[in-house]
Amino acid sequence: MTMRPLLIALPAALVLSGCATLEKPGEPALSPPQAQARTGAVSAADPRAQAAGEAILAKGGNATDAAIAVMLALTVVEPQSSGIGGGGFLVHGSADGTVVTFDGRETAPAAAGPNWFLGKEGDPLSYREVVTTGLSVGVPGNIALAAKAHAANGSLAWEELFQPAIVLARDGFLANRRLHQSLEGQIDRAGVTEFGRSLYYTADGAPVAAGTRIVNPALAETLERIAALGPDHFYKGQYADKLAATVAAATPGGIGMTRDDVTSYEAPMRNAVCGSYRDYRICGMGPPSSGGIAVIQILGQLERFDLAALGADNPVTWHLFVESQRLAYADRELYAADADFVSVPVRGLVARDYLAERSALISPDTALDDVAAGRPRGVVTVASDGDEPPENGTSHFAVVDAEGAMVSYTSTIEGPFGSGLTYGGFFLNNELTDFSFSPMRDGVPVANRVEGGKRPRSSMAPMVVYDPQGEPVLAIGAAGGSTIPVQTARSIIGIIDFGLDIEDALGLPFIMAFGDRLLLEESSWLADRKAAFAALGHDDIATASPPLKAGGVYRTQTGWVAARDPRLDGLLETQE
Ligand code: GLU
Repeated sequence: MTMRPLLIALPAALVLSGCATLEKPGEPALSPPQAQARTGAVSAADPRAQAAGEAILAKGGNATDAAIAVMLALTVVEPQSSGIGGGGFLVHGSADGTVVTFDGRETAPAAAGPNWFLGKEGDPLSYREVVTTGLSVGVPGNIALAAKAHAANGSLAWEELFQPAIVLARDGFLANRRLHQSLEGQIDRAGVTEFGRSLYYTADGAPVAAGTRIVNPALAETLERIAALGPDHFYKGQYADKLAATVAAATPGGIGMTRDDVTSYEAPMRNAVCGSYRDYRICGMGPPSSGGIAVIQILGQLERFDLAALGADNPVTWHLFVESQRLAYADRELYAADADFVSVPVRGLVARDYLAERSALISPDTALDDVAAGRPRGVVTVASDGDEPPENGTSHFAVVDAEGAMVSYTSTIEGPFGSGLTYGGFFLNNELTDFSFSPMRDGVPVANRVEGGKRPRSSMAPMVVYDPQGEPVLAIGAAGGSTIPVQTARSIIGIIDFGLDIEDALGLPFIMAFGDRLLLEESSWLADRKAAFAALGHDDIATASPPLKAGGVYRTQTGWVAARDPRLDGLLETQE
């Protein structure tokens, strides 16, 4: 669906401090679509966060200002997915083609080392054993990222960016079906703390119903302070002491996050990783994310195939797509990690000759038996990371402003409700579970092993795209753990190869290989063509409905359009 801009028109509400009340839900009013083209466009997974970004654009803010306002608003209205207790990556693409990235990925405490996730016998602990402990929590990066990006490119005053989120936290917002569903069966995560239990569950432990007004004065106060005092309120002084103490108290053995870990956090600006696809220039986040590299590889390896001629309804098209993804993910598992700690051959991985060599492995007639990582230039020997813990937190949003600057920002607390630990009205991430739990494989150190101060490997892929004339045309990304680069590359192919509108490109059926298993989206036409994929040599085929959550802004002939994955629509309603 194409999102139309939403005026911030919070329904009059019965406001009860710090608690949730059920009331008749109302939706913000829609304004005409042309309004978007004048001031820019905002895509976000939640309409209230989209409205926050639009309000900032309407005040004369630019894409960076609006994206920060969206990130802050999502902390309030989408507590299951992202927020200031987590981190993210922001890719800024100027109208003149300059692209820079901001790395707000969480860092492991200095006390963390390769054995962080090993039990007494030296075996890796399970995800379940660690996720709701301080072991999983990295130093949150989103506020530092916002401050760095704002200093570099923002135009409105810092405190202005916080106002929509403060209003949502103080006056409350209505839980939608998505939040309700996320809370179901998650009381041992979202309800780890008394704060989480009392805000998101009823006294008898049931998740708040859709349509319930949720008021979060603790978060409103935190946001007000950071708005007034700047990022130092979060990273320095007493607030930092308490944040570290909260995490350390939940860490087995008590040796966890310290004040120094928090005060020394930085969100660096990093070079973007760029490639091309059919004369479009595609740029994204480099390490510690694997996402930008994977998207560029998937596309680059497909360039020699005429996908437009094959067509979007042809199983061969999607077979080729999957084969390209398998090759890209083999590289991802072996090489991708925090390049401040291990050598990542970024340039070699996206070099055109390397991608051509890898592409030559792909056959339109049959699936590869074995998929192994390649040997790009610049390789240093590391071992593969086979662990892939379940993930489904995260939110992607994208903004373009009146000057044509694009911001693509993916924000995460990792899994649903992060670690479940709360502080200052928000959930703290469990991002450290994105590290490999095993530090060694076959006697060789794993690239993505835990190390003090290191950032865990990510799949997040906020991307910006320039058309063959060098003009900004698309800012896109997704949530959904390891499915992110696949959702993103699929949508880019939909636009570039099949000439689809962004809403149709985001709505293309999902297909992905998880190891040797090919997963086809349930209830899509792909699922009805299992036999065709089997004939192409895919032996292990399953159907499922993974949580899909891509979104972006796209320049059409009549102006910029914002869209989110149409599969989200039903879940955004506030009615029961
Ligand atoms: N933490 C994940 C990553 O950085 C994203 C989680 C998700 O999208 O569900 O790759």
